[in-house]
Amino acid sequence: MAINILETPITKLRGVGPVKAQSYAKQGIANVGDLLCNYPRAYENRGNVELLDEISDPDIKHSVILTVATEPKGVRLRARHMSMLKFRAYDDSGTAEITFFNQDYLKDKFVLGSTFRFWGKVERVGRRFAMSSPAFEPWYDDRPLRDLLPVYRLSEGLTQKQISENIEQAMALCGSEIPDDLPNAIRIEYGLCTKNFALKNIHAPENYRSLAAAKKRLIFDEFFTFALGISVTRKRIRRSGAPVCDKGDITPLLRQLPFPLTGAQSRVIDDIRRDMATDCPMNRIVVGDVGSGKTVCAAAAMLIAVQSGRQAAFMAPTEILARQHFADLEPMFKSLGISCDLLIGAATPSKKEKLKAALASGELRIVIGTQALLSDGVEFAEPGVIVTDEQHRFGVLQRAALAGKGGRAHLLVMSATPIPRSLALALYGDLDMSVIDEMPPGRKRVDTFAVDGSYRARLDGFIRKNIDEGGQVYIVCPAVEERETAADEVELSSLAEDGILPDTAPPLKAAVQFAEEIRQKFPEYKVEFVHGKLKSKEKDAVMKRFSEGKTHILVSTTVIEVGVNVPNACLMIVENAERFGLSQLHQLRGRVGRGNRKSYCILVYGGDDISQCGETARQRLDTMHECYDGFAIAERDLAMRGPGDFLRGGEDETIRQSGGVKFKLADLCDDAGVLSSAFSAAKKLLEDDPELGAHPELASRVQSMFSLDDDTLN
Ligand code: ADP
Ligand code: MG
Repeated sequence: MAINILETPITKLRGVGPVKAQSYAKQGIANVGDLLCNYPRAYENRGNVELLDEISDPDIKHSVILTVATEPKGVRLRARHMSMLKFRAYDDSGTAEITFFNQDYLKDKFVLGSTFRFWGKVERVGRRFAMSSPAFEPWYDDRPLRDLLPVYRLSEGLTQKQISENIEQAMALCGSEIPDDLPNAIRIEYGLCTKNFALKNIHAPENYRSLAAAKKRLIFDEFFTFALGISVTRKRIRRSGAPVCDKGDITPLLRQLPFPLTGAQSRVIDDIRRDMATDCPMNRIVVGDVGSGKTVCAAAAMLIAVQSGRQAAFMAPTEILARQHFADLEPMFKSLGISCDLLIGAATPSKKEKLKAALASGELRIVIGTQALLSDGVEFAEPGVIVTDEQHRFGVLQRAALAGKGGRAHLLVMSATPIPRSLALALYGDLDMSVIDEMPPGRKRVDTFAVDGSYRARLDGFIRKNIDEGGQVYIVCPAVEERETAADEVELSSLAEDGILPDTAPPLKAAVQFAEEIRQKFPEYKVEFVHGKLKSKEKDAVMKRFSEGKTHILVSTTVIEVGVNVPNACLMIVENAERFGLSQLHQLRGRVGRGNRKSYCILVYGGDDISQCGETARQRLDTMHECYDGFAIAERDLAMRGPGDFLRGGEDETIRQSGGVKFKLADLCDDAGVLSSAFSAAKKLLEDDPELGAHPELASRVQSMFSLDDDTLN
């Protein structure tokens, strides 16, 4: 049977003994099927053959066709325990000296007068050329060689050649018996090649076109499995059941608020109430612009759980935010006679132990905290609802883990990142969505301007004016040092490639130095600096002083981006604003305009002259000046940059992997189009075959991608 062929142990292949099998095992390759799914990491284009004297770049590999002109001569270098093999070979333009090291056995290969295609760096030595240990393939006029050669990841003991040969054998062994696990109708509907063609051409592409077709098919496969897995996860969560929380009366909460709910907030709370009143677990995301009032919705969900005799947890991505939520919510819950405590990493071990015990016994009804809530030993006596805030940093798998943690709990996710429909599927496909599409009334617009370095003096005056009138100021700059982390470099270079940055990008303000400059410039004010490399305790202390009004100017890197609430802050200055994504700028702007003060956001270009700024960057800053709606900004961001950079704009890399699900070829950002096709196809298939009973091979693929237990599917 076909399946068995793919399960053939790798040791059945020629040249693979126990030692090589070990090397393969290091890459997770145990059988023929694994080997065929070990896709190349790159391809060499050896099809572009050059003449020796045309070659000018000695630093890259070239393809040359040379005929052996002299008998290979071996030279022993006794002192260094090395041997060398040397011969000359020529083409119409010149002669090259070819050298191999410790490969005496090649002596018989290079017969005088035979021709080879060599691939390697070509050095010019006077009028001669030289190649050292090039790759080579015998060349016959009547048997053309392939142009594109795969490059595999290597582990010790394996060579490119060995892997290629083993894959060739494996393909031959399987012949036409490789099962196509994609239903034929779907394959045809989406214009995909067969599995057999795809595997053959991913390893040994005929040409670029067939490689593209192979990739498209295999990427589709991965997304299709992903889409099926998300549905399965949803179903599993549904089936797991949840406590019915139908005793919720939130009027006591509403009575404590100094404002009535907006229509949108009421609608969202109704959604939540309806979800929680059933024994089918809520699995909902609330998406609302910065400042739209999501916290109240979270508080309502928690109150509903507690009034129904259950416990509630509220998880924030940073300690600063967790503390802030705690400070806002604890007094409210306390006055309703509900116990509420804070669990963060920085808490002392004894405090943590006490808190965990109180949760496990049911004495503590509400806990607010960070990811520390996910750690071992945190158990709820009567879990009711778990709320996670600003959660775009978590993915499908982490959410599933969270749901498991609560053991039969309702799950509510809050996000301030409006995302377009097609991407929502990938990031939140497992969730129902409620949108807060209305801001609380009386919210004043944060006037936004873009200026260049020539405005520095006026800007300083504006800072003084705002502080002297009693306000506070944020100044945000991109990174802590000139080059902060590898991740930053990747992001900047990808921006540069897409033409968002001009070639001569203005220098980054080194935040540390910059903070010092600000301090010296404003000796009459208290200036503090917060950045990602500070210990969380120090970070918290700085934030606390700022929110208490003890600090006038807070210089920071983007650690304050998410969720911080200091109503007295009225001026947001973003340095090197051209380096931030639109959605990120919008988030930063949302930090001001939260109180009664007229607020401003000033975007400062990096250079002294606005004309140094790239066209796209200028367009983006213009958008910020014109547009104040987070959803509209997200759409423009998407239109300007495409899904790849839209997602990359300041977000964690993790979402590219959709939080835990690993793709081999597919990329959530670059292949977003294929992704939505895969979701439609999956939906259709599951309508006909909800349990994948007729497609066991798909079911097993889903299981391995999502590391699901065996019994989840049935
Ligand atoms: P976000 O959606 O960004 O989490 P918050 O929940 O922090 O927003 O709310 C932002 C501010 O708006 C808070 O100061 C909050 O008290 C206030 N707020 C929330 N709902 C309303 C409302 N319906 N009317 C007036 N102010 C509100
Ligand atoms: Mg919030």
